[in-house]
Amino acid sequence: MNISRKDFFKKGLMSLGEAVFSVSDALKSTAVAHLSIPDTAGFDATPREDMVAVPHNEHCLAKNSGCFACMERCEQDAIKLTPGVGVRVNQILCNGCSICEYVCPVNPKAVRMQPRATTQEPSVIHAEPPPTKGE
Ligand code: SF4
Ligand code: SF4
Repeated sequence: MNISRKDFFKKGLMSLGEAVFSVSDALKSTAVAHLSIPDTAGFDATPREDMVAVPHNEHCLAKNSGCFACMERCEQDAIKLTPGVGVRVNQILCNGCSICEYVCPVNPKAVRMQPRATTQEPSVIHAEPPPTKGE
């Protein structure tokens, strides 16, 4: 296939334009571009045994892979992304430090601290599966 220098240059510019548009659309679709994540420098992330993080995925941007703020800051590695769903929290690993809630940029927060004893959130996962009958 022959292509003139002029056409070659034009096609190059067009594909560059398409790439810029797709990045810009991706940023818009995540709706995270205008949200700011709080600075954690002065935050007291003291663990609390009586508290646990609970996802509220109806507000979470992670279901479209638009935010990783809580996952990036969780030192216990207790938060996992589930594409199309949001985040899941491993209750056993969670130490109740609450930094995930602090950095969550949406309002209302998509991950919130709750007293450990009262959590019944279905998107909380457990490290061990429940025993099956006969065990
Ligand atoms: S409170 Fe949040 S950041 Fe802290 S350990 Fe639990 S899940 Fe991780
Ligand atoms: S819970 Fe908040 S911080 Fe975590 S991924 Fe969802 S929107 Fe981001």
